Amino acid sequence: MRYAVGTLSLECNSFSPERTTLDYFRRNGYLLRGEEIWDAHRGMRNELAGFLDVCRRRGVEAVPTLAVWAVPHGLVVPETYAELKAELLARLRTAEPLDGVYLSLHGSMVVEGLDDPEGDLLEAVRNAIGARPLVATLDFHGNVTARMARAADILVGYNSFPHTNLFETGVKAGELAWRHHGRTRDLRRIFVKLPLVAPMERMTIVGDEPMVRLIRDLEAGEDGDQILALSAFGVQCWLDIQEMGCSVLGVVRAEAADRASELVARTARAFWDLRRVFMDFPFHSPDEAIRQGLASAAQPIVLNEPSDNVGAGATGDSTYLLEALLRQRVKAPTYLPIVDPEAVATAAQAGVGAELTLPVGGRLNRRFSRPVTVQGRVRTLFDGRYRYTGPMFHGVETSMGRTAVLEVSGNIFIELTELPVWTIDPEHYRCVGLAPERAKFLVVKSQGSFKAAYEGLAKGVFYLDTPGISGSNLRALPFERIDRANLYPWNETRKFEPDPTIL
Ligand SMILES: [Zn+2]
Repeated sequence: MRYAVGTLSLECNSFSPERTTLDYFRRNGYLLRGEEIWDAHRGMRNELAGFLDVCRRRGVEAVPTLAVWAVPHGLVVPETYAELKAELLARLRTAEPLDGVYLSLHGSMVVEGLDDPEGDLLEAVRNAIGARPLVATLDFHGNVTARMARAADILVGYNSFPHTNLFETGVKAGELAWRHHGRTRDLRRIFVKLPLVAPMERMTIVGDEPMVRLIRDLEAGEDGDQILALSAFGVQCWLDIQEMGCSVLGVVRAEAADRASELVARTARAFWDLRRVFMDFPFHSPDEAIRQGLASAAQPIVLNEPSDNVGAGATGDSTYLLEALLRQRVKAPTYLPIVDPEAVATAAQAGVGAELTLPVGGRLNRRFSRPVTVQGRVRTLFDGRYRYTGPMFHGVETSMGRTAVLEVSGNIFIELTELPVWTIDPEHYRCVGLAPERAKFLVVKSQGSFKAAYEGLAKGVFYLDTPGISGSNLRALPFERIDRANLYPWNETRKFEPDPTIL
């Protein structure tokens, strides 16, 4: 058996002032072609690596096409998407004869002028391969559409947040593709779109959070034979597009469609019933969090600023917290990342040891932040390439671009980076010589993904209520294209009764 495999994965944020091009993929993540994919995926624990593991064990020949991934960012420019799509389709043609195709997708990519590129891509691949199996994996934050569910045979979501099971999701998709090969035309997708967009802090699937039970109940309905995969999707909530919302998706054999519809509807109802819970989360002002943190003997304490989460496509250059640290003359060791290519260039030119006075941050996202002038010493310069070492994206190589650590006010270490740095694990601090265990305050920018790697390390966590383009006060953000009249929380009194579509 011969399967073409590939990745086209990016999470977008509609409010980012930045745009995603081929150059961004190349610099921040990866843009791999053909055989390059094999080398790069050695040691990676992502979905494609999981699918390849099944191919190896089952004796399926995998044909590498294109693998493109980067840290979440602004909308993709149309030319970049068109080029990647054309190349993938061309590589599929060259790879013939094929018995199937597997794609690792996100589900919340947005192209300027195209709300649902994954739907568009899956449809194009479907047209190219006819009735042969089309298998894909999706992020828990994917904005799943009926178009995607219609075009693919098998779609599998992570059902995790933090996403600690990327590899296992690829394995699950691979095993299902293997077991149901030759019978995929009998499969149906059971799909419900919820009129719900919700902040993510309370949606993590760990500990005693309410989503844990919902997901476990949903997965208990899978049997691998009749009901292949049941997935819930919490959606990336900063997509200003028309067909938007959380969803529940089942992949089942035709004869189990009615039974699965009931399961999917029950989960969609339970998901909807949590809507007010998602809106209720304790935030602190930066000043209050710093005061409470300093009053405690515990360290390190995480100061988490989810509104500037690069992992949600924000620019990562907010300065609210830096201002508060300076205002309170914090002397305890504090590590803080800020994306600022101009400041990096200045620091790099001045060199290690140089004393500088310069504005930092607040340049990329002027709508929500402003530059702050600091005086400091360049401690470290670094080329920015490293691998994630935590439970999420383990082994995946990324780059924060050239990086300069600036020591300010004696003990505040600002990690200035050229490119977005995803704070899902503290490796970005370690690789510039900042030992997280020695800090009093570790700044993280994350809705919930940081929990996996920071568990055991962080002795306390404060979520900050600063404004920003990945902020949780959704009604304060400049949404224009979403269907406000139809969606919670914009319409708070709306009723909803799930009615699954069989596709
Ligand atoms: Zn996600």
